[in-house]
Amino acid sequence: SRQLHSQAQELDGGDSGSVPGVLRDVVIEKIEELGGGKVQQVQETTAGPGLHNRHFKYTATGGTFMAKIAKASRSSPPTNDWREASLDNFFAEQTGLEAILETGCLRAPKPLALGTLPLGGSFLLMEHMPFIPFGQSIPEVLRNLAEGLAAMHLQDPPPSCGGFGFVGDNFLGGTRQVNTWDSDFSNFFVERRLSPQFAQARTKFQDSWGTKNEDFERIGREAILTAKKVLEPVANSKPALLHGDLWVGNCGGVPGEGRLREAAVFDPAVWYGLPEFDLALATMFGGFGKPFYETYHAIIPKAPGFERRMRVYKLYHYLNHLNLHGAGFGHGGTVEDPKGYYERSL
Ligand code: ADP
Repeated sequence: SRQLHSQAQELDGGDSGSVPGVLRDVVIEKIEELGGGKVQQVQETTAGPGLHNRHFKYTATGGTFMAKIAKASRSSPPTNDWREASLDNFFAEQTGLEAILETGCLRAPKPLALGTLPLGGSFLLMEHMPFIPFGQSIPEVLRNLAEGLAAMHLQDPPPSCGGFGFVGDNFLGGTRQVNTWDSDFSNFFVERRLSPQFAQARTKFQDSWGTKNEDFERIGREAILTAKKVLEPVANSKPALLHGDLWVGNCGGVPGEGRLREAAVFDPAVWYGLPEFDLALATMFGGFGKPFYETYHAIIPKAPGFERRMRVYKLYHYLNHLNLHGAGFGHGGTVEDPKGYYERSL
């Protein structure tokens, strides 16, 4: 564990411009093994928020590559649990990217390899894409994203799809999403999405909430009953592949194939669900801008009850945010006043 710890420091700290040798060796070997040619330059990119991972761009004679490297948290030395968790996370990301690419509807980086680092930690190697962040985006890219997303949402699921769920669990931020199949969407959403978030929040915050706990329990129970009712009319709809974590930070414009620019998505948390679930997060964190929604709904109109169901889906994201970050983001709910989340949501 002394060894693990010193590698954690190597991965974690030091000069941000330097590239730890361990990353050079393992990932470069992998690129060369995959036929990527000789790696000539390795740069740590600072483009994204990248809370848990470090991101490196590898320029090789045969192409450019990007690796996400799971690092240890500063507060806790890495353990084998952490190592396995990061590998699970990357495995789910790889599976998700592959599922999206298989639909042929949206561009996304092609995952190339998954591996562990010799002394702990893991990496996901993929095709590098020259992203232009959505902050500087143009209507053409937003329309292209909407068209691609709608096409994916309209596609019949493959034979491997067993209802609502996915072949394995995945992660939304750091939160595990259990994806065990269910033929009823209302059941699935309440049992595998909302209830676990409520349970996690209860465990996490019961001490700091003190007397507010009873309120929280009651509101949680009511919210779950309401959600179940609100989703019942769409419980037997046809499942479709979802990106699952579609917000402005997880997509961007890239040079187009046959056109100037088009959209590409990354960092998904895919599952088979109701298409409209992807629209909930897409209107949070600032949203995508008018051309996206106009184009999407011209292809897939809002079904009756859409706005009400959006509130149920958003509640899931609010709870996840609360569980991950311990605080709200402008919707009135704070750790001290959790009621705000639910009363405004449902
Ligand atoms: P994390 O899950 O660690 O937050 P992301 O997948 O969100 O990492 O990626 C972090 C940043 O790296 C993104 O904001 C994006 O700008 C960039 N990025 C992600 N994937 C690629 C890729 N395949 N090629 C180039 N840049 C990428």
